[in-house]
Amino acid sequence: MAERDGILAIDQGTTSSRAIVFDTDGRIMATSQQEFPQHYPHSGWVEHDPQDLLNSTVSTCTRALKAAKAAGVHARTIGITNQRETTIVWDRRTGEPIHNAIVWQDRRTAERCAALKAAGHEPLVAERTGLLLDPYFSATKIAWLLDNVPGARARAEKGELAFGTVDTWLLWKLTGGRSHATDATNASRTLLFDIHRQTWDDELLALFDIPRAILPEVRDSAADFGVTDAEVLGTELPVEGIAGDQHAAVVGQGCFEPGMIKSTYGTGCFALINTGEEAVPSRNRLLTTTAYRINGKPTYALEGAIFIAGAAIQWLRDELGIIAHASQSEGLANDAEAEGLYLVPAFTGLGAPWWDPNARGAIYGLNRNTGVAEFVHAALDSVCLQTGDLLEAMAGDSSTPQNTLRVDGGMVANSWLLQRLADLTGLAVERPEVIETTALGAAYLAGLQHGFYNSLDDLNSQWALDARFEPAISRSAREHIVEGWHDAVRRTLTT
Ligand code: ADP
Repeated sequence: MAERDGILAIDQGTTSSRAIVFDTDGRIMATSQQEFPQHYPHSGWVEHDPQDLLNSTVSTCTRALKAAKAAGVHARTIGITNQRETTIVWDRRTGEPIHNAIVWQDRRTAERCAALKAAGHEPLVAERTGLLLDPYFSATKIAWLLDNVPGARARAEKGELAFGTVDTWLLWKLTGGRSHATDATNASRTLLFDIHRQTWDDELLALFDIPRAILPEVRDSAADFGVTDAEVLGTELPVEGIAGDQHAAVVGQGCFEPGMIKSTYGTGCFALINTGEEAVPSRNRLLTTTAYRINGKPTYALEGAIFIAGAAIQWLRDELGIIAHASQSEGLANDAEAEGLYLVPAFTGLGAPWWDPNARGAIYGLNRNTGVAEFVHAALDSVCLQTGDLLEAMAGDSSTPQNTLRVDGGMVANSWLLQRLADLTGLAVERPEVIETTALGAAYLAGLQHGFYNSLDDLNSQWALDARFEPAISRSAREHIVEGWHDAVRRTLTT
């Protein structure tokens, strides 16, 4: 059998670690996935054991590399994509973490963030980092570790400790402690990185009380990150791509032109619009972030999130018990008569552009004929209408004309949903052949650095369409439905 080149993508997520070997045409050759335990030491606290993140990564990589090899594909390079913002601090000499990883969802630093906000620091932080003062991001988590693990602060100041997001931790371990580096997208989620100058910022380091000696070096998303240690991974391979999960998905979706949007529909939804060379500040509390950095040149994005997307379907299935499987939603919605029925899934408050954390869910427009199919229709509609609100917020911030909406995530198996998304947003919706876009993006970045691809244009021509959905209702029909939705949302707001 002829041997072919491949790329190993490590996708280290919040609940599982995955390894996928792609061939250089971007087709999946082998895949392996492993879950690991979540730790909830107190209400609102979420931790991972860094050793679990490493072990599950190493074992999935070993399995995927072996399976690919059996199929005649040899991985030549590695790309890493990861859960963002999760914070790990370890001893540089021993490689031992000083504490569990504090996961992005963890709210333990909410008071610290509120105090910094009350002291008037948010405008500076937002201007430099594109982020908000929220516990999600790494800086207050690092400070918590330094202040709560005995002796940590003094050791950090002496240069004995290292900080990393999950990419950096894995890179350090996989290279046998030789590489302490991250990429510009992951650095952009720490609250310590000036996204305009693309450097760590001394004023922010002082504000959050973080010693500079703890920080990794920041490189492009496609760069030479070091070579794996055969004693750790069983083989020596270069790591040549790194990007946070949503950023890798932008690359995997080939959203290289300003105005292209990728939207991922899982439990929640993350949408990023490419704004090109311009880091656009948000007036609508969206985030400004580095989408990717290649050849020293940052490309920026505006990012927005919807808290409840697929979770609305999970709610119908698990709490109401009116459907047995998420996949039934497609056929049911298709048969529904749901004119004027709106579900506002504000189960945990409402995000952009409403920002009402105290709002709770509601359903409006029930009549004598409202049944299971109509509930399903309203739930799927809510995903489309929330996306529309997010796009409107993006349009309010950036004059970049929005073109295609490229979608991925577990929900996009549902073609009815995607047609409705096109109808209710007025944008063409494109579903790619490979919906593992996060891992694919990491593989593309590594392949770019390795020389399998010459440019983003090469990657663009690799991206393959599975199905395209064109808006098929009139503008006035769309506006009528959106008006009804906004009416329903307004009745749900608490302020
Ligand atoms: P996550 O990565 O957040 O765990 P996934 O990308 O695996 O999520 O997507 C799973 C979500 O998609 C679930 O919330 C599920 O309810 C929803 N889902 C899966 N299949 C369908 C479908 N055919 N129609 C609508 N929703 C679906």
